[in-house]
Amino acid sequence: MKTGAPSALPHQHVDIMWKKQKISFMPKRTKMNRRKFVASTSALLAATQFPSLQAQEITAKADQLAVNGGERAVKTPISKLTRWGQEEAKQLASIISQDSLFYWKGPQTTLLTKRFQEHYPFKHVMPCSSGTAALHIAVAAAGIKPGDEIITAPITDMGTVIGAIFQQAVPVFADLEPNTYNLDPADVERRITPKTKAIIAVHLAGNPCRLNELKTICTRHKLILIEDCAQAWGAKYRGQPIGTIGDIACFSLQQSKHITTGDGGIVATNNDKFGPLLQLFGDKGFDRVNPKAPTEFFGTNYRMSELQAAFGAAQMLRVEGIAETRSKLGQLLTSEIADIRGITSPEVSQKDRCTFWLYMLRVTPENLKCDRAEFVKALQAEGVACSAGYISELIHEKPIFQKHSFFNGSWPVKEAGLTNMDYTKIKCPEASQMLTTFVRIQLHEGMNESYIREVATAIRKVARHFAG
Ligand SMILES: *Cc1c(COP(=O)(O)O)cnc(C)c1O
Repeated sequence: MKTGAPSALPHQHVDIMWKKQKISFMPKRTKMNRRKFVASTSALLAATQFPSLQAQEITAKADQLAVNGGERAVKTPISKLTRWGQEEAKQLASIISQDSLFYWKGPQTTLLTKRFQEHYPFKHVMPCSSGTAALHIAVAAAGIKPGDEIITAPITDMGTVIGAIFQQAVPVFADLEPNTYNLDPADVERRITPKTKAIIAVHLAGNPCRLNELKTICTRHKLILIEDCAQAWGAKYRGQPIGTIGDIACFSLQQSKHITTGDGGIVATNNDKFGPLLQLFGDKGFDRVNPKAPTEFFGTNYRMSELQAAFGAAQMLRVEGIAETRSKLGQLLTSEIADIRGITSPEVSQKDRCTFWLYMLRVTPENLKCDRAEFVKALQAEGVACSAGYISELIHEKPIFQKHSFFNGSWPVKEAGLTNMDYTKIKCPEASQMLTTFVRIQLHEGMNESYIREVATAIRKVARHFAG
């Protein structure tokens, strides 16, 4: 991993921001006027005259929580995140001279696909309308049938399972590992039944799942491995891009993700059986390569438009820089807070690259005299952009799952006897505990190392204050 100057990043907007910081830093050092100089030297003199008193006051002030009127630990302002610029403007301008905004007739989806393939060497790529669409296409192309079971994570976006449910498949939720927040392969294997046909591995917050173990399980039980990479753009597993280890990869380009087209997605595979079906399912079963072919595959319309693709093609130029910066900042935060009592930091394998869509740590209530809400409130007062929790309940704890009422109050596969799934009986104790202990720290490529170090100081300060 590169640790050199941030300006070496190929990622233009970060470059500019780092440069801005340099510019605003320099004059401070060179322009110290006489009055300030006298003030600072007399303060220094005073300090040497009353060293212990001064030192005590300083420590007391630094230790006092900002929420109780103390000094804020975070002083570096969070830079405004500039997510688009000239590349996007250029691409959008070029679209005006196109006479079609339809994906099959314009160059933008082709360019997006080409740039995507430079990072992700997939043979079959289908740009589509959302990450949810990508996952629906994946499940359909994988040949999942009504009543088939798909094992996945209970802490994720609903989009992970929406497609499965529409295909009349049955999502099965396995428990997660306490420190990676990803599927626990042993628990996945325990939940396999003769009906299990696939696993959807969600790389939560950009941290790669244990893909070798999951892949071994898939081989052993003849399952298809679908990777939900919506939160993991640029992440790597043992040096390989996330998505390229399983059978089908799904990405989201929704606004909150590393790169975006507002809404959008990409689904891709190297499997020649599934490959052509991606396009067919996302394009009403219409074969664009062989338009005379009879419609044999039923599908929906999940096409991406040229407008989205133009933006996406430009965003693809940023993905590596964003991934690099986020990975570096996330690792820095972990190394700064790893020893703090009262919290645990997310575990990332040294062999992998996590691209920190978010930075999620956990409080350990048994080591703290406060609850999570109080902890988070104190952290926020210190100037840390953070919030308590992630999603409010596990996916299968949502009322629609608890009542099995997906389709106008009913669930055809259950009524037809194709499944006896009862979501009220599913237990994922580790995942449940995560939801009550997660603290979500904002992390993005517009931030810099001094901010992250101050975040670490704030966490240490708050944890020490509440140490129990
Ligand atoms: C965002 C997200 C999705 C769904 O993507 P959309 O583009 O919002 O439909 C699916 N899975 C995960 C893990 C996500 O974070």
